[in-house]
Amino acid sequence: MDDKRSWWTDKVCLITGGSRGIGAAIALQAAHYGAAVVVNYYQSEKLAGSLVRSIMEKGGKALAIQADISQEAAVENMFLTIEKTLGSVDMLVNNAGVSLRKLLVDTGMDEWQTLMDINLKGPFLCCRRALGPMMEKRCGRIVNVASIWGMRAASCESVYSAAKGGLIAFTRSLAAEMGPWGITINALAPGPIDTEILLTELDEEERAELAGEIPLGRLGRSEEVAEACLFLLSEKASFINGEVLVIDGGWKS
Ligand code: NAP
Repeated sequence: MDDKRSWWTDKVCLITGGSRGIGAAIALQAAHYGAAVVVNYYQSEKLAGSLVRSIMEKGGKALAIQADISQEAAVENMFLTIEKTLGSVDMLVNNAGVSLRKLLVDTGMDEWQTLMDINLKGPFLCCRRALGPMMEKRCGRIVNVASIWGMRAASCESVYSAAKGGLIAFTRSLAAEMGPWGITINALAPGPIDTEILLTELDEEERAELAGEIPLGRLGRSEEVAEACLFLLSEKASFINGEVLVIDGGWKS
């Protein structure tokens, strides 16, 4: 724990979509290790607020900031607020995301745009804004939360798959570009994880069916994705760059 703390202490870690689900689990663990955590949220103000309070009650540093990560001005304001209050972002987790499950022929332009804006443009805007200070420090960590659906086929998920597949390609190329500045950029590809996204898309029977397809016989938990994310953010992952870490209980194989 002491080793972990020396790496994490005073590092500013921004988690987009940190109000709930996987993002909240990442925020809690990063705060536990000693990072100053920024919980970005879009609509879940109460959840973000109570998460920040519970981190602070345990002696951690945390701040909640509302921003729609698909809007350039909102992202700029979020980074300015962080820089004024905590300092520049050392670790960025592009976690915010939305999914869509429907036939392509029924998919509207607005739905296509929303998926691309939040899942792909948001990480682009946040990376672009975070990288300047990281390049100056010649140090930084970025983790993009993609999806197993960006790697394997899934019926009725083609637009979500395209966005997450794009995020994986973005991660690999940006990692090659930023390596010379000592910045690592990796992606996570979770399989089915038991959060709101899955609850809204699948009924109980479908979730049970999905769990049955996974060699471990169950859905994943947010905390299990968070552990993998924290590893990629840690000092121990210093030579891992441009990688995609699959967390799916063996489902894809
Ligand atoms: P979730 O519980 O539905 O949470 C989604 C998060 O994204 C929320 O915190 C939400 O914030 C935030 N968000 C949505 N639109 C936003 C916007 N415009 N600006 C800022 N934040 C926004 O989903 P989750 O399961 O934790 O998913 C987290 C990430 O993992 C997503 O990128 C998802 O695609 C990916 N993933 C999930 C699974 C899974 O099975 N659960 C599998 C593979 C990949 P508010 O609540 O504040 O609006």
